[in-house]
Amino acid sequence: MKIRMSLSRRKTSLIICLGFSYLLSVAQQPSIERIEPPFWWIGMNESNLELLFYGKNLGDFKAYSSVPGLEIINTISIENPNYLFVYIKMDSNLKEGVYPLLLKGDKDKEISVLYRFDKREPGSASRKGFGWGDNIYLLMPDRFANGNPSNDDIDAMVEKADRNNPNGRHGGDLAGVAKYLDYLKELGMTAVWLNPIFENNQPHYSYHGYAITDLYNVDPRLGSNEEFVRLVKQAHQKGLKIIMDMVFNHLGDQHWMIRDLPSSSFIHRWPEYTPSNFRSTTIPDPYHSEYDYQKMINGWFDRHMPDLNQNDSLLADYLIQNSIWWIEYSGIDAIRMDTYQYADKDFMARWVNRIKGEYPDFSIVGELWVEQKALHAYWMEGNYRFGNYDSPLQFLTDFPLYIALRESFLDKEKGWEKGVERIYYCLAQDFVYDEPRNNMIFIDNHDLSRFYSIAGENLQKFTLGLVMLYTLRGIPQFTYGTEQLMTGLESDGHGLIRGDMMGGWPNDPVNAFEAKGRNKQQQKAWELISSLANWRKSSNVIHSGNTRHFLPENNVYSYFRYNENDTVWVILNYGDEEALVETGRFAEMLGQHRRGHEIVSNREISWGETLTLQPYQALIIELIP
Ligand code: CA
Repeated sequence: MKIRMSLSRRKTSLIICLGFSYLLSVAQQPSIERIEPPFWWIGMNESNLELLFYGKNLGDFKAYSSVPGLEIINTISIENPNYLFVYIKMDSNLKEGVYPLLLKGDKDKEISVLYRFDKREPGSASRKGFGWGDNIYLLMPDRFANGNPSNDDIDAMVEKADRNNPNGRHGGDLAGVAKYLDYLKELGMTAVWLNPIFENNQPHYSYHGYAITDLYNVDPRLGSNEEFVRLVKQAHQKGLKIIMDMVFNHLGDQHWMIRDLPSSSFIHRWPEYTPSNFRSTTIPDPYHSEYDYQKMINGWFDRHMPDLNQNDSLLADYLIQNSIWWIEYSGIDAIRMDTYQYADKDFMARWVNRIKGEYPDFSIVGELWVEQKALHAYWMEGNYRFGNYDSPLQFLTDFPLYIALRESFLDKEKGWEKGVERIYYCLAQDFVYDEPRNNMIFIDNHDLSRFYSIAGENLQKFTLGLVMLYTLRGIPQFTYGTEQLMTGLESDGHGLIRGDMMGGWPNDPVNAFEAKGRNKQQQKAWELISSLANWRKSSNVIHSGNTRHFLPENNVYSYFRYNENDTVWVILNYGDEEALVETGRFAEMLGQHRRGHEIVSNREISWGETLTLQPYQALIIELIP
């Protein structure tokens, strides 16, 4: 008896042949439902590969290879007989192609599997990730644009589209992103960070993408794997990089592996539901108790998000290979890793090092939601060491600066360490970083209050925030919808701060992607953002220059970005009154300069002993000799 089956949606040319020397009852028949990774490449640095076989009663099988250059190192059976892990080694002489592997069970049961090795794309290993010169645009695919209404509902996916439910799926997709790549380019962006695009086949609240149910497939409501590859290519053709969002701390509770748990060590199990204490302080804290530490990293992020145990070596290899598979397969430029501190830190270091081993110039940014500077800096490459922990993470989401920025707008009182002084104090502590410019900076993101709301829906204050975003040290990350002046506070719920772009859906009454669909305020915001972002693209002094700042006085904060060739003077009036600024105290930076080109207004500006600023006015001045 021979059965030929091909795995759907994989395009892997993977064929499984079952041969039996005797008749088995249907219930006993071994079968293979999944092989992950579905295929691999020749010519990778790492020559070992872990293959996960999933199917009924595979546990007692053993793998064999008669292919020259393809060696079986180990076959590992675990508690659950539906899993088999096979480690193979690829000789450097192995050519691309499809090769047979033989799985033999007892009583002459045999399964022959064909496994494919592709050739790598030229230049794949030397791809360059994002860096200081990039302007990142973050978007939530379900909420950005619906380029393909026919995929809004998919039979096999339990949650259907419901645009009236803020926490439901709205139908946005990869086709919508592809449609607006030129728009993003015009806005001045150079990289796009997409919230996770993996399948999230959860019954509720699945739109955000962080409860993954399949690590090898794009959610069909967003598109397909092939569509994602096309999107990355199109983006590259337009000079845009793609940042893929990944999650290793947890999976959705409907993930196939959680529904049929491989072994008791794959997830952290507690006598009853035990959430994380969400206190990442416990990791660098030299005084931490084991009780608090274990709860932080082994407690669950959410009732529906089982916490993965990355200390299980089979799972660890599975996760690492998953990242490498996506990098090689899709051509992405960078990864943003969710909940970076919640996973095992030694595993995370190993993961970064493995990726860097294959792709030395690839970029990885970790979500480091920590408010305190020292606790944040702990995670940056080249930084302080504790307990022999040498973090290899290059880029960090800059939450300490975000908190300072946000609170600076919310403070009612002014004074020491209040208002704009918060930013001064925050930056004054940059000595904790080996490289402060390796922070990804932001004024809002998908988890946070909309910046326009934080700015009191005041366009002048909004400008202050945007000016800082595009002139402070670090890589600016802008959030979709902020250009449409979306509003919403964290306290309103995540579903509401993650609104739909106006005009992203075919029957939207207003299309604010186009100038004619924007109201006056939105148009001003769009012009501001596009002029700042486009200017920053070619402003090396902002990318890599040094910073010097001056103590805020009377709510006026002034800083300079400078290098050997250029100096940019940024001056911000946080006060609600006109400010007369004496320029003398900036002499060490201004020298003899008395004029410059001002970026926000795009005009020449000059000054004498004093400079007058309007309430909440922000200036970016490129000094002209
Ligand atoms: Ca759709």
